[in-house]
Amino acid sequence: MVAPGPGTTNAMADRAPAACIVGWPVKHSRSPVIHSHWIRQYGLTGEYRREAVAPEAVADFFANLAARGYVGCNVTLPHKEAALAASEPDDRARAVGAANTLWLDGGRLCSTNTDVEGFTANLDAAAPNWELGRDEAVVLGAGGSARAVIYGLLEREIGAIHVVNRSAERAEELRRRFGVAVQPAQWSALPHLLSRAGLLINTTSLGMAGQPSLQVDLSPLRGDGIVVDLVYVPLETRLLAAARARGLATADGLGMLLHQAVRGFQQWFGTRPEVTPELRAVVEADLAGTKE
Ligand code: NDP
Repeated sequence: MVAPGPGTTNAMADRAPAACIVGWPVKHSRSPVIHSHWIRQYGLTGEYRREAVAPEAVADFFANLAARGYVGCNVTLPHKEAALAASEPDDRARAVGAANTLWLDGGRLCSTNTDVEGFTANLDAAAPNWELGRDEAVVLGAGGSARAVIYGLLEREIGAIHVVNRSAERAEELRRRFGVAVQPAQWSALPHLLSRAGLLINTTSLGMAGQPSLQVDLSPLRGDGIVVDLVYVPLETRLLAAARARGLATADGLGMLLHQAVRGFQQWFGTRPEVTPELRAVVEADLAGTKE
């Protein structure tokens, strides 16, 4: 159980801890499925709710989180920058420029960006020791999730991160943000870059249901290459299917989504949860629109 901070009332201290996902809209979020499963699995008394909060109301929502009965929250679009501004971010959230997990520590509202550890923990699980002998990576995309991925790669001391994006200026912006390890590149350079890098990560929305497909020829990738796709609808993207057909190691977007949820649950409910095949099956069933 999370100890109530000074901002919490005695009445609140008697209540089961509650957390929520804050977004606008929020009904698409899978976070309640993940956290509710863990609450049941660990036999905890706690609650995890959805909170649809409009942009003009979100600063007030964060400022009054404790008074609303929450020990913390997850944050999704479009509120991740507002969450950063409303809280005391750690190095990851500050570097990425967005916060997605908030918790009360005494009277302080702290935040982090768990997409960073979601990315690296998922890769650790799918391809243990993936960093060994791999000093270069190719990142497709330069949006919000690319920032978290790049920070994760830098934490693991990957020396060269080639960022290939439709809008060259956004890749340049990432070089200014993260430094010279980030090397903006053209799509036409992909075959050459893949032959060197051995790690390809798609952070674009290409290949997602309803979006154009992602066309990448994986044949130049090294035989020990690893392919990561952040897209999780569909679960198996064409990129991942093509990688598996070549016998390459892969890490999928659902794995990242599950791993990024661990830290928040631990902060709010006091138990570090595990990402298990059972959890994955529950969320897969939800994504497929089926009942558990
Ligand atoms: P952003 O909107 O911040 O970035 C989108 C990126 O996709 C940009 O680089 C954009 O390029 C590129 N892109 C979009 N459409 C096209 C196109 N038609 N042709 C070429 N490039 C295109 O999104 P996010 O970074 O937040 O999310 C990206 C994907 O990652 C989504 O599918 C999201 O669901 C997934 N995601 C998964 C997570 C997980 O836990 N598995 C976590 C976070 C995100 P440009 O800059 O040129 O517009």
